[in-house]
Amino acid sequence: MIVILKKNPNPDQVQGLVTWLEGKGITIHRSVGQNETIFGLVGDTSSLDIGLISALDIVEDVKRVAEPYKEANRKFHPEDTVVKVGGTQVGGGNLTLIAGPCSVETEEQIVGIAKAVKAAGATMLRGGAFKPRTSPYSFQGLGAEALRYLSAAKRETGLPIVTELMDISQLELFDDVDVIQIGTRNMQNYDLLKAVGKQKKPVLLKRGMASTYEEWLMSAEYIMSEGNPNVILCERGIRTFEPSTRNTLDLTAIPLLRKQTHLPILIDPSHATGKYSLVPSMSMAAVAAGCDGLLVEVHNDPQHALSDGAQSLRPDKFEVLAKNLLSLHEFTAALPQMNYE
Ligand code: PEP
Ligand code: MN
Repeated sequence: MIVILKKNPNPDQVQGLVTWLEGKGITIHRSVGQNETIFGLVGDTSSLDIGLISALDIVEDVKRVAEPYKEANRKFHPEDTVVKVGGTQVGGGNLTLIAGPCSVETEEQIVGIAKAVKAAGATMLRGGAFKPRTSPYSFQGLGAEALRYLSAAKRETGLPIVTELMDISQLELFDDVDVIQIGTRNMQNYDLLKAVGKQKKPVLLKRGMASTYEEWLMSAEYIMSEGNPNVILCERGIRTFEPSTRNTLDLTAIPLLRKQTHLPILIDPSHATGKYSLVPSMSMAAVAAGCDGLLVEVHNDPQHALSDGAQSLRPDKFEVLAKNLLSLHEFTAALPQMNYE
C-alpha cells in the first residue's frame, strides 16, 4: 500500500500515523520529495482500512498495490486448484458438466433427469431444494424432501449432488450433498460464507449479480480463511441496463480471473441469459474462453417447470450440447497456447 502525504504535513500527526502503522507490524519506506512525502507500506496490509487512512488530515491519497485477498490469490498459490468431488475433479484441465433442473419437483422427475444428463455426459447433478425466489408467492422449493429425492437420484446414477444452501440451519440436512452452492444473492452473506468455510465439502460460489471480481474473490477468501480450500467460482451473469436477457454473461471473468486466482471457474449460461435458446451458443463461447465447466439447467418438461422453465434445456437438447462442448474442449486443449502478455 502506498500513502501519499499532503504538502507540509503536521509532524505530530505524521508521527502518530507512523506509530500506529508500526504497531500493526507494518514497515514504512519513506520517500521524501520536494513537494510530497510518500510512504511505501510493507507487511500484511490486508486488515488496514483504506478509508480510515485517506480520511486523515495529512493524507492526500492512498493506493493499494497488493490485492486484499491472499488464500485465493495466484501469487501465493501459483498451481491451479483442483477440487475433488466423488470420483470427478473440477479444474486441472477437465470440463465439468453440472446439469439438472432449477428446482427438484418430484422424485420421479429428478431421478429421470439425473439418468438422462448422466447418459449425455454430465459429471454432476444440480437441483434446488431451498430456492431463493424474488417473489414470496413463487414456489420456494421442497426443502428436506427435495434432498431425499436428490439422494435417490445419486443412488441410482452415482452422480454427485450440487444444491444451494440458503441458511446455516439447513447445513445439518446436507450430509449426502457433495457440493454446496452459495447463490448470487448470498455471495456477501458473510456468516453463511464463514459457516461453509468451517466444514469440508466443496463450495460452488456464484458471483453476486452486482459484484466486482474483487468482491467475489473476497467472498472466496471468507470461505478459505476459515480452512476450506475447496472453492469453485461460478459466473452467472451480472445486472446491466440490457433488458433482453435476464443478466449479461461476463465471459471476461474467465481469462481475467485465471491470472488473479488459482480457483476453478465455471459458467452458468442458464441464469446468465434466462433463455434456453441462448444457452448453447453461450456455453460454447465459455468453453472456447477456457472455463473449467458449466452449470446448466435441464428440465424434462420446461413448460411446466415450477421455476426457470424458460431457461431450461430439454434432455435431448442437452445431450447434443454436451457432445459439442466436449468436442470443443478437446479441440481447444490441443491448440497452441496463445500468450499475449
Ligand atoms: C440456481 O442456480 O438455481 C440459482 C438460484 O442461481 P443464482 O443464485 O445464480 O440466481
Ligand atoms: Mn434457476
